[in-house]
Amino acid sequence: MKLLERARPEILALQPYSSARMESGVAATMLNANESPWPASCTAPALNRYPDPQPAPLRAALAGFYAVAPGNILIGRGSDEAIDLLVRAFCRPGYDAITIASPTFGMYAVAARVQGADVTEVPLTPGFVLDAKALLAAVTPDTKLVFVCSPNNPTGGLVPLPMLAHLAQALRDRAVLVVDEAYIEFADGAASAMTLLDRHDNVAVLRTLSKAHALAGARVGVLIAAAPLVALVRRIQAPYPLPMPSVDAALSALSVSALAATDQRVTAICRERERMARALAGLAEVLAVFDSAANFLCVRFVDARKAWRRLAASGIVVRDVSRYPQLADCLRITIGTPEENAALLGALDARKAAA
Ligand code: PMP
Repeated sequence: MKLLERARPEILALQPYSSARMESGVAATMLNANESPWPASCTAPALNRYPDPQPAPLRAALAGFYAVAPGNILIGRGSDEAIDLLVRAFCRPGYDAITIASPTFGMYAVAARVQGADVTEVPLTPGFVLDAKALLAAVTPDTKLVFVCSPNNPTGGLVPLPMLAHLAQALRDRAVLVVDEAYIEFADGAASAMTLLDRHDNVAVLRTLSKAHALAGARVGVLIAAAPLVALVRRIQAPYPLPMPSVDAALSALSVSALAATDQRVTAICRERERMARALAGLAEVLAVFDSAANFLCVRFVDARKAWRRLAASGIVVRDVSRYPQLADCLRITIGTPEENAALLGALDARKAAA
């Protein structure tokens, strides 16, 4: 199509983000997108009016839940939107850059490349630990945003709070430290980087209702930051970003009873994660199961493609992350229900497969 030649060359050349749903569609057992295997306990309204751009009741509920002021909160279409808005608000095409610690969640780099911003990648250490010194050494005057994912997707490791505080201090007045805490509810009570906001106005924390709160389909994510940063990003957000059914679902998921149910699901997932880590480590075709503080495990296989195919043949989809740096022959396996997890182990067990 001739018109496409008028599009931005960097968009035509872009390697788009490849989502779990794009890669594998729908299967009987879906352990590839880090969703909750159980639905949220929540209930929906008339839709003839445009929604409130930032509904006050939801802002108040989220502010209460995260123990910050409503002015520190921007609600968006998943934390994916907050990532995109931060990049668009801070990075000038052709001039500015973001820094990421690879391997990590793919959307930081995609949002930057769409914007025409450079991406500086700093490798995690061989044990998948964030190398704070190297990260800071890679920051230049053009660096506007430093993304740290904790727990990290796809490796599962948690970044200690003192390291985040050190990064925030070192980046003061230079760059925004964006701490993506999509999975922190599964991190055994680990303190959130939100606790740094009082002393560091260059910290932005991303939270989501997609994982622990089991609302991936509602698309509700939250940016928590100093009020001027929130106001800046709000300037470029679409006029009505939050569909009313999603707002209702989010409000309902933040009720006392729904939060109690969420706690129970999180406890069950963490228990299953530890059980699965042990069971997977005992399989002949598994070389390593990496420590995870999230609702998934990153697992190194003798032959990841073979393991992936064997699971797919049993109707189980997991995420092949072997194209990521340092993750050759690794699959990322979302923790499912006990039944789904048992089915996965059964499908991977060579003796059972041969029987
Ligand atoms: N951050 C991380 C680390 C993720 O893994 C994901 C989803 N895979 C997101 C953000 C985006 O989540 P959502 O847009 O559903 O809030």
